[in-house]
Amino acid sequence: MENCAIVGINWGDEGKGRMVDLLTEEYDIVVRYQGGGNAGHTVVNQLGKFALHLLPSGIFHSGVVNVLGNGVALDCENLWKEIEEVISQGVAITPENLKISSRASLLLPWHREQDALEEARLANKKYGSTRQGIAPFYSDKYQKKTIQAGELLYPEVLKEHLKDLLEWKNLTLTGVYGAKAYTLEEVLEWIDLYGEKIKPFLCDTGDYLRKARKSGKRILFEAQLGALRDLDYGIYPYTTSSNSIAAYAPVGSGFSDAKVDRVVGVVKAYSSCVGEGPFTCEWFGEEGEQLRQAGGEYGAKTGRPRRVGPIDLVATRYGVQVQGATEIALTKLDVLSYMKEIPVCAHYQLGGEQTDEFPIPAVLAQAKPVTEVLPGWGCDISGVRRWEDLPQAARDYVEYVEKNIGCRISYVSVGPERESIIRR
Ligand code: GDP
Repeated sequence: MENCAIVGINWGDEGKGRMVDLLTEEYDIVVRYQGGGNAGHTVVNQLGKFALHLLPSGIFHSGVVNVLGNGVALDCENLWKEIEEVISQGVAITPENLKISSRASLLLPWHREQDALEEARLANKKYGSTRQGIAPFYSDKYQKKTIQAGELLYPEVLKEHLKDLLEWKNLTLTGVYGAKAYTLEEVLEWIDLYGEKIKPFLCDTGDYLRKARKSGKRILFEAQLGALRDLDYGIYPYTTSSNSIAAYAPVGSGFSDAKVDRVVGVVKAYSSCVGEGPFTCEWFGEEGEQLRQAGGEYGAKTGRPRRVGPIDLVATRYGVQVQGATEIALTKLDVLSYMKEIPVCAHYQLGGEQTDEFPIPAVLAQAKPVTEVLPGWGCDISGVRRWEDLPQAARDYVEYVEKNIGCRISYVSVGPERESIIRR
């Protein structure tokens, strides 16, 4: 069986966690390869409702091994709190079912602080950061100014390294932002408290994954956020600070020579977007409020109301290409049941012309949506489990989306529960 990645096609919150939770049945290992605790996957299963931030969604399946690769922003403090919370709800988490890359870089307390200081400095020009320290973390990583988790195993090396980093970071915190300097004692205390907790989980994830693959294990790569938030391919600078696309999965997992043959792109039946940045298909007022409420579109991490609109075929087609999706899971189709007619953003109007190309970020804010309207189905579809049992108008909607995004829709999700799925 091939390696598989489950990725977001749009702005995130497409329901990736729910698809990973479902498809984990077919895989032995689930790997998170990028991002940090700045977004949330919501998973509903027989154990309850969980908001996962850094833990892979395979954590609920016994016998499945979960891996945090070298590409993640390893925030030991929040990861440990998340582990304790999930354990308290009856899920076992041990070094047997959770492995953390010793090459993952540590997100340190000052990254979170710097993130908040910078958002405050930007005031009304802010990017909408979740203040989890992700942008300062990745910039420090690429400047080679953070700690790799494996250093936790060598306290003396770690202490010397921290001393150097501290001297450098304090220049920014005190000089640029006028904030308080960190002391070595403070940081070592934090390491003692949280770094120690994750030490038992550290391993060479590349070695582990290669051996596992050789012995026939099936690997699922799990992304955070969506294609339009990818640092290189998204709506820069309103992106995240890492690569969320499937192509990064081998690099960020440690298994750099892995082939990802199956890419399941998750698309929501309408659009949502958290935070700032151009969002061409956005609905405002009553129309937006109704959709937001119907879809429960409030951030899993922040509780912030998400911006919403109809499905954006231009952006979605672009996301499908960037991800190299081989099939699509269309989620939350049930949410559209209240609409008599279903508008879709079919094209963009830009520079006086109609276009089907997704523009570069510099001009995206000037694009206007060109809407088409499809008939609604006017009944509850959340109990439907077979394609042929969906109302004709719902099937027409799915087929219309499929034709316009250029990729086969093989799953249609009609509810948050594991079993609320139609396989085509
Ligand atoms: P992720 O980060 O891509 O995993 O997405 P989120 O967890 O932020 O958002 C998806 C939300 O939609 C979660 O609350 C899910 O439980 C819920 N959800 C997923 N699929 C469906 C669906 O088909 N129908 C409905 N009504 N809710 C869904």
